[in-house]
Amino acid sequence: MKKPLDFGSTVNHEDEIHEACGVFGISNMDDFDTAQITYFGLYALQHRGQESCGIAISKNGEITGHKGIGLVPEVFSEKILDRLEGNVAIGHTRYSTTGGSSVENCQPLIFTYKGGKMALAHNGNLINASKIRYELEDKGAIFQTSTDSEVIANLISRNGLKCSDLVEVLTKTMEVIEGAYALVILAKNTLVGIRDPWGMRPLCLGKIGNSYVLASENCAFDVIGAEFIRDIDPGEIVLIEGGSITSIKSKFNKPHRFCIFEHIYFARPDSSIDGASIYRSRLEAGKLLAIESPVEADMVVGVPDSGITAAIGYSRQSGIPYGEALIKNRYVGRTFIQPTQQLRERSVGIKLNALREEIEGKRIIIIDDSIVRGTTSYKIIQMLKNAGAKEVHMRISSPPVLNPCYFGIDISSKEHLIAANYSIEEIRKSINADTLAFLSVESLLKTPIGAPVNCFCTGCFTGEYPMKVPMHLGKDILEKNC
Ligand code: AMP
Repeated sequence: MKKPLDFGSTVNHEDEIHEACGVFGISNMDDFDTAQITYFGLYALQHRGQESCGIAISKNGEITGHKGIGLVPEVFSEKILDRLEGNVAIGHTRYSTTGGSSVENCQPLIFTYKGGKMALAHNGNLINASKIRYELEDKGAIFQTSTDSEVIANLISRNGLKCSDLVEVLTKTMEVIEGAYALVILAKNTLVGIRDPWGMRPLCLGKIGNSYVLASENCAFDVIGAEFIRDIDPGEIVLIEGGSITSIKSKFNKPHRFCIFEHIYFARPDSSIDGASIYRSRLEAGKLLAIESPVEADMVVGVPDSGITAAIGYSRQSGIPYGEALIKNRYVGRTFIQPTQQLRERSVGIKLNALREEIEGKRIIIIDDSIVRGTTSYKIIQMLKNAGAKEVHMRISSPPVLNPCYFGIDISSKEHLIAANYSIEEIRKSINADTLAFLSVESLLKTPIGAPVNCFCTGCFTGEYPMKVPMHLGKDILEKNC
């Protein structure tokens, strides 16, 4: 028998779950302040992880760093940045739900191996990390963190015992690890960027003056005044040192499978990934949603901030005016104090409030980017109805989320996914919408305009993952890194 739907919890994904991390790197050939540029790069990537962050920096090959729990401006003060001297740096913003926050798990990881000191920052999730870890532990390896990134560090160290060529060490490591990864590595004075052979997570290259930069998203380049050069190819290794760049193209040769959820939700709308603008994808998703699931109404409204762009697209296509009906408190961040039981009932209200003047007596189409557990939709519809909406029609600019993600987006086990357990009609009833519709997978795949065709992982919607996922995953998975 199906479990009854429970909307009592305060789970709000924006606060609790945000699994994709952000990575940044710079090889400074000018007279920029390396640490400060990295800081601003990370600031622009804060949306990719709010649990912890860190910077590792190399001065004449000697690596130091600073990291901690908290947002970028909480972890780094001017004084700390001043202490971080050097000309090559990497940085990381992280969010992970499992294992809780612990300083050991913050990145970049700095480790010493036969080839010297190295620092590593990782966005993504390996699917064979626990297997490798057990094998290494059987051979006597010790681990200080519960992240799969440390497994990568350990493999690099071991491969470094057999050969001294950095590319060979990295290639051998890539032969063993499976899953999603965008890595930035600091090896003495060399900045390295690596994207997994499927290109599941984003990584791009930019230039400012004579200095190269790497980042998860190119919105980080705009902030620091760098020019976007290109995306790192799936399976590519780039080595940057002394103002020159060497690219080692993949010998792994897998089909490109970029995570479509980055287009739907994770990436910033002012970024473009693999040739497609995130903003345009969301606009297009809204337009296609209006074509697929029209409904008569007086106003189209987006759930701030995740549903706004698709709502504008829906409004343009349908001709129904776009309006603001929900006001977001912009100052509620990750750190807001957990409410008491009494306030808990109104937890969405702490973040969002309804504009009665706009809503009363109207038929509203409310657009959000996704429904995961259903908690948010239920509360928002309740809020709109309490403010006098005559009808509330919910439209979602992505398909029903039916499957977990094993590759770095925190869409956890099936039991928490409302669409995996209930029909669309059951969900509609339970969130109290007058009508409910999702975007089809077919339309979704048309939204990243300019991206290569068929280059997406749609596993969370279709269950079709680019690689075979080990049976045990989801049960005894190592702490998901990010
Ligand atoms: P839910 O209440 O679980 O249905 O959450 C849906 C809301 O959370 C939507 O407004 C999305 O913008 C956002 N969201 C969807 N997936 C995620 C995720 N993996 N991490 C964080 N937030 C998410």
